[in-house]
Amino acid sequence: MDFKLLADTLFPDVTMTEEELEAKFPPRTLGEGAVVSRMAPSPTGFVHLGNLVQGLTSERLSHQSGGLLFLRVEDTDSKREVEGAVEILIDSLKHYNINFDEGATKDGDLGAYGPYRQRQRKDIYHVYAKKLVENNMAYPCFCTEEELEGIRQKQEAEKANFGYYGKWAVWRDRSFEDIKKQLDLKTPWVLRFRSCGSLENKIKFTDQIKGQLLLTENDIDHVLLKSDGIPTYHFAHAVDDHLMRTTHVVRGDEWLPSLPFHIQLFSALGFKLPKYLHIGPLMKMDGNSKRKLSKRKDPELALTYYKSEGFPPESVYEYLMTILNSNFEDWRRANPDLPTDEFKFSSKKMNPAGSLFDYAKLCDVSKNVISRMSAEHVYSSLLNWAEEFDLDFAKKLMSDKEYAVKILSIGRGGKKPRKDITVWKDAKAYMGFFYDEYYSIADTFPAQFEKEDIKNILTEYADNYFDAPDNESWFENLKRIAAKFGFSPDVKEYKASPESFKGHVGDVSTFIRIALTGKTNSPDLFEITRILGKDKVIERINTALKEL
Ligand code: GLU
Repeated sequence: MDFKLLADTLFPDVTMTEEELEAKFPPRTLGEGAVVSRMAPSPTGFVHLGNLVQGLTSERLSHQSGGLLFLRVEDTDSKREVEGAVEILIDSLKHYNINFDEGATKDGDLGAYGPYRQRQRKDIYHVYAKKLVENNMAYPCFCTEEELEGIRQKQEAEKANFGYYGKWAVWRDRSFEDIKKQLDLKTPWVLRFRSCGSLENKIKFTDQIKGQLLLTENDIDHVLLKSDGIPTYHFAHAVDDHLMRTTHVVRGDEWLPSLPFHIQLFSALGFKLPKYLHIGPLMKMDGNSKRKLSKRKDPELALTYYKSEGFPPESVYEYLMTILNSNFEDWRRANPDLPTDEFKFSSKKMNPAGSLFDYAKLCDVSKNVISRMSAEHVYSSLLNWAEEFDLDFAKKLMSDKEYAVKILSIGRGGKKPRKDITVWKDAKAYMGFFYDEYYSIADTFPAQFEKEDIKNILTEYADNYFDAPDNESWFENLKRIAAKFGFSPDVKEYKASPESFKGHVGDVSTFIRIALTGKTNSPDLFEITRILGKDKVIERINTALKEL
């Protein structure tokens, strides 16, 4: 057959040449070892933790090597596309500090290797589709859905492997006349790859995460262009990652089964194969067994979940680092104050089987991350969250920034900062009592004490209010009050002979704590009194006395 004629007949509109494209998108001039990587998500509107893991891995590898990261929108599947999804995607990634050097942006394309939205690249794909036809490496297939289903059923009956290959590939070796006839009838067609692979053959391959792999060659004549002329993922991947000069393809390992086909395709197109990093899935424990995080069962798969719960992006980032690189935690212990991007991220330290996602561990990490933030930083992040998810609280925080920052400074700094907040959603319960509107005596005074004693102690504390300059003298005052009402000023002393006292100084402090904060559990009481100030302290004691 005259393949040149076939190619011209199938692709009459192709005007560009491969040489022109090569010249338009030349190899990048970057330093030795610079990684060019990309995120290539489909705009489905659902951005998940897997996207973030992929993004973070490619971002680290590219930026720490002096390379670059770009965003390519894989919008070839219009059925799955959701309006505004690209914007959602860009915003979500920006929230986690994943910044792109080039690619699709909210305001169009940035960079010289675009367009970065696949549907705008149709003409480019057709240049290479035509070339494959000319070289007898691709052919049109006019099978209908019903015919393909018929093939499948026959394969089932014969216990043959499924797929379009070998003798089942009914359009593989048809004459030009047969093809032309269908084209004249305007029968829809797809372009298929002519595979020369065999299941008998194995290919040795080294994946940057999975290590040495022994793959079976692909024998299927996969679809390259769908009937609307839009490429499949496979074909677009080869053309785009070649022309955009990607050096490292980081993607989920659900693509591993397609790798033998991709290897064939790059070779058929005469492209250099990039390096591949296939990331294992995120799993979680379900009872005693591990399973993949699922969109249906696990709300924590969606990135929106972390935002609404109020996990600071730094916490999620730090946690993902701990599960992605096995040496990250040791590094963090040795460098508690260094910014995360000083850690040398390495694909060698990634678990080939995937990472175990542990929510409790994430909370733990988040507590630590928040405890190391400055009060100012906590204030602005918390406010940011509250403006979106708790406007009333946001207004309180804004009404007096200095007051809020003072509250958020409690227990901060020093070697052992307090770890009271895990997510911003917790913050109101933790600090709300500082605001009258959120203050109420929620916890009851311990029932084992006489009300009279509690009242006397609170009255004494308010009537002879001592504006203590430091924690020690504040506590001395409490000891004095304890002794005055038959409570031991010393807990040890009390424990040695409990029958001699009504209680101890710790109980005295509990009474005051409940009166001032409404709760038995709160940050440092002395600090609280300093922030509330004398008038508010006395007012609250009086409120509590009325409730007793
Ligand atoms: N669009 C593909 C996906 O969302 C991209 C895979 C890749 O990074 O190559 O899975």
